[in-house]
Amino acid sequence: MNPYWLEDDAVPRAAPRHEGRVDVAIVGAGVTGCSAALRLADGGLRVRVYDGRAVAEGASGRNGGFALRGGASRYDVARETYGPEQARGMWVWTERALDRMEELGGDALRRPGSFRLAADAEEREQIRGEYEALHEDGLEGEWLDDLPGVLAGRFEGGILHAGDGSLQPARFVRRLAAHAADAGAEFREHELVDDVEALDADHVIVATDGYGHGLVPELADAIWPTRGQVIVSEPIDRVLYDRPHYARQGFDYWQQLPDGRVLLGGFRDVSILDELTDVEETTPAIQASLERFLGELIGETPRISHRWAGIFGLTQDMLPLVGRVPGRDGLWVAGGYSGHGNVLGFACGELVADAILGETGPQLELFDPARFS
Ligand SMILES: Cc1cc2nc3c(=O)[nH]c(=O)nc-3n(C[C@H](O)[C@H](O)[C@H](O)COP(=O)(O)OP(=O)(O)OC[C@H]3O[C@@H](n4cnc5c(N)ncnc54)[C@H](O)[C@@H]3O)c2cc1C
Repeated sequence: MNPYWLEDDAVPRAAPRHEGRVDVAIVGAGVTGCSAALRLADGGLRVRVYDGRAVAEGASGRNGGFALRGGASRYDVARETYGPEQARGMWVWTERALDRMEELGGDALRRPGSFRLAADAEEREQIRGEYEALHEDGLEGEWLDDLPGVLAGRFEGGILHAGDGSLQPARFVRRLAAHAADAGAEFREHELVDDVEALDADHVIVATDGYGHGLVPELADAIWPTRGQVIVSEPIDRVLYDRPHYARQGFDYWQQLPDGRVLLGGFRDVSILDELTDVEETTPAIQASLERFLGELIGETPRISHRWAGIFGLTQDMLPLVGRVPGRDGLWVAGGYSGHGNVLGFACGELVADAILGETGPQLELFDPARFS
């Protein structure tokens, strides 16, 4: 298990320390926790972040590196489920978050756009519906019947989402942590929290997404730990997939990295119930499916340099939970991105921080954890 992203160079970080009680303690130093820490420290609060591992060593350093706008559902489905105003508002809100990520992340984020592809005629109809809904609501998205390069003939059309990005997620989150530390946030790595009530803080944010299941019993049925698996090839000498690509409702996702390697994740549906777990290990069945598909994508037997598993938090309605944990004084949550947390995690970290700082907004209503109680 060697997540490619975590091999990146360390990012130097200041090490401020607070004496005694803080305003806010955050459990989890992934994208959510670091984003919240930066916002709160910028807002003048004393912040302490705990993680049982090091910064970005959870899903934030183990994902596919897709930085997509929107939520985990297709836009047309989101519009139907959450209502047109809420869905459109959420999409625009994440587009703005991507812009801020670009400002903060430097070369950790490129924005070549992404391809959502139709693997068959049924999926073509579905994503055509998504394209039309985006278009009706004035959101960007280009429909492609004629797909470029190696995609032609293999997929039945697709949508180019122009503003989407490819993230080096560990580099991005480590930089976010460095910004937060510069603003005064204290980081306590390799400190596992087993009781949120014991933390010496006025507010506590649980930012553990798919990890830390059971830490807050009230959330145990709302955010289900779910495993994702990834492989990365040795560099290949031609550029085949120069942006994030995904198909089969996002079950399969792949992109070529700047050094020529191809990263592929997915095939969770090969054994979907087994993947409802927080055991962070790869399995032969899914690894074999990934290798087979990677061979088809690159036209040769792939030489694999990296393989790993990570855990994300899935929710029933595919929307995150952000806000106060019902019935618990001073306890907040931001998590449950349903496999779509690079941009949402960043945005929801800011959102929960803003809520603590006294701001409200439509996203807080939509993501209210009380909907599951
Ligand atoms: C294989 C895979 C591929 C994915 N691909 C994508 C993608 O391409 N695009 C996308 O947008 N999203 C993707 N995701 C989802 C995305 O990675 C996550 O939603 C996001 O990183 C969540 O960030 P986070 O900060 O909320 O949680 P995490 O990054 O998971 O961080 C949680 C942290 O909490 C810590 N923690 C847990 N319990 C405790 C405790 N008791 N005490 C102290 N610390 C604790 C953990 O050590 C961990 O570091 C993927 C996820 C996986 C697993």
